[in-house]
Amino acid sequence: MWDFRKPVIALLAPTLLVVLSLAVAGGHLGIGLSVQGILPNLPYGLSILAMALGLWFKRERVFFTALPLGLVNVTMLNLWQQAPATGPLWEVGFAALCIVLPLYLLSVTFFQDQGIFSRSGLTRLLWLFLPVIAVVVAVDSTVPAQAQKWLGEALHARLFSTDVDFWSHLPQSAILLFGLSMLFLAGRFVINPTPMEGAMLGAMGAAWAALHHVGDGAMPSLLLSAALMMVIVAVVQDAYHMAFLDELTGLPGRRALFADFRRLGQRYSVAMVDIDHFKKFNDTYGHDIGDQVLQMVASRLERVTGGGRSFRYGGEEFTIVFPGKDVETVKAHLEALREIIAGSNFLLRDEDRPDKAPKDRKEAGPAKKNKNIRVTVSMGVAGPSVEYPDPDAVMKAADKALYKAKEAGRNRVAA
Ligand code: GH3
Ligand code: MG
Ligand code: MG
Repeated sequence: MWDFRKPVIALLAPTLLVVLSLAVAGGHLGIGLSVQGILPNLPYGLSILAMALGLWFKRERVFFTALPLGLVNVTMLNLWQQAPATGPLWEVGFAALCIVLPLYLLSVTFFQDQGIFSRSGLTRLLWLFLPVIAVVVAVDSTVPAQAQKWLGEALHARLFSTDVDFWSHLPQSAILLFGLSMLFLAGRFVINPTPMEGAMLGAMGAAWAALHHVGDGAMPSLLLSAALMMVIVAVVQDAYHMAFLDELTGLPGRRALFADFRRLGQRYSVAMVDIDHFKKFNDTYGHDIGDQVLQMVASRLERVTGGGRSFRYGGEEFTIVFPGKDVETVKAHLEALREIIAGSNFLLRDEDRPDKAPKDRKEAGPAKKNKNIRVTVSMGVAGPSVEYPDPDAVMKAADKALYKAKEAGRNRVAA
């Protein structure tokens, strides 16, 4: 089932940032005037911050999105904000910028995060200068007037006979490019709803809106700032995920567990969950299938009832924390969870990757295509007591109970 929470969370920051920008620009927050002097320069600081984060976290896409957004702010402020919105400079240069920017931002989203100072990173740095050169040439006064006229006409070419662009002063081709780019990024976001994909989509939209609002006071700078902040927030969200979420299962990991331990009150329960005979899955089907089993068990554990929160403790062991609940209360929820897992038919995709198949595959027999398998788990649960006063100790008690469950024949809950 498609989980709608992920895209909502991923688009939360971009949406709030745009709303905030519009509110500031509209003077609705009452801080509009007091920060008016800062606003036009805000994108520079944010651009530098985002580029530094991109370098630090080896996020090429962040670096190469932040750089042009900062440059666009310079261009718009210095060239067009002060010059009258007429004449060849405006006609040609602005049109070139409107067409080049969506193309460039879209190309950046294809970059793989390989580091900026790698050879491919440097090639990409050169790639950035192509659009800059294109815009500079477009406004260069030494270019013959006739050529500029042609260029201007080409950039402003009307692609649609009707006035579909009545609401915007951007060239039709720029509107088409921004529109198509956003559609493409929205599609990619639906497939992969991560904060970074959401930020790329949001930044494209905000950059479009910034160009649309050129000449409208601090609005373009505010929208560019919003675009840059989206990217910055996404880097931070990414870093948070890396630190706290387990890569394979997406469950919070051990670091998140110990952070939660510090926030527990007097009453709580801790359960340790261990997959039964898991080594057998690895030996029979190979490590990749073992990983799939872990992911599927984790997805069941994530939906634990009774206010529990599941963590991947390590390997094929999981921890569930129930704040404010005693052992007697949570037992029923753990029992229900154990039954759900034991009753699930896990459908395995056999991707038949010979390089990763186990050596003894022949003896074990080849895994059938889309094989159904069943998995059981054992659980041990404990709460705080005189003997086990703090969460670390309670976890040890839960581990002991888990051992009892295994001894008693597995696929059961023990306290
Ligand atoms: P028991 O019922 O007693 O728990 O038996 P078991 O086989 O599950 O227990 P054991 O602890 O001996 O085996 C755990 C296995 O889990 C060993 C290791 O190969 C495997 N394992 C640990 N982490 C991972 C992982 O991330 N991916 C995969 N595929 N296997 C893992
Ligand atoms: Mg184990
Ligand atoms: Mg096990």
